[in-house]
Amino acid sequence: MAIERTFSILKPDATRRNLTGAINALIEKAGLRIVAQKRVQMTRAQAETFYAVHKERPFFGELVGTMIAGPVVVQVLEGEDAIKTYRGVLGATDPAKADPGTIRKEHALSVGENSAHGSDALDTAAIEIAQWFSGNEIVG
Ligand code: ADP
Repeated sequence: MAIERTFSILKPDATRRNLTGAINALIEKAGLRIVAQKRVQMTRAQAETFYAVHKERPFFGELVGTMIAGPVVVQVLEGEDAIKTYRGVLGATDPAKADPGTIRKEHALSVGENSAHGSDALDTAAIEIAQWFSGNEIVG
């Protein structure tokens, strides 16, 4: 299997409840290496750009508001099949449908406040990583 990099965000509901370490433990237990990480306050413009694919959805305003409600932790995760592996660690978008042991089942509050983001494909991962990290900030 290929070594990949994926992009992750620990969302404001997670940082607010001091869950960075607990979520990172689940990430590392799954064999993913955190090769870049920083805590940032997203601007509205950054959140709108990041989730531009959802801009016609009825929940877009709520989504942007949720993402800028407090600091986030942006990360690059590296490992075998990292995109799929991390989607598995995240669990379903709706925490009520997520499997036990996943980030969203164990920590998320709702569909809107679902604690973490992970890229859904290699091409989007590359775009999202480039949006938040310069090359020398990623140390594999
Ligand atoms: P995922 O984050 O699992 O890839 P999506 O890309 O479909 O899910 O949606 C992006 C984010 O938008 C979700 O993580 C969630 O926080 C939010 N979202 C999705 N659907 C809804 C909804 N029906 N109501 C409120 N927020 C939603």
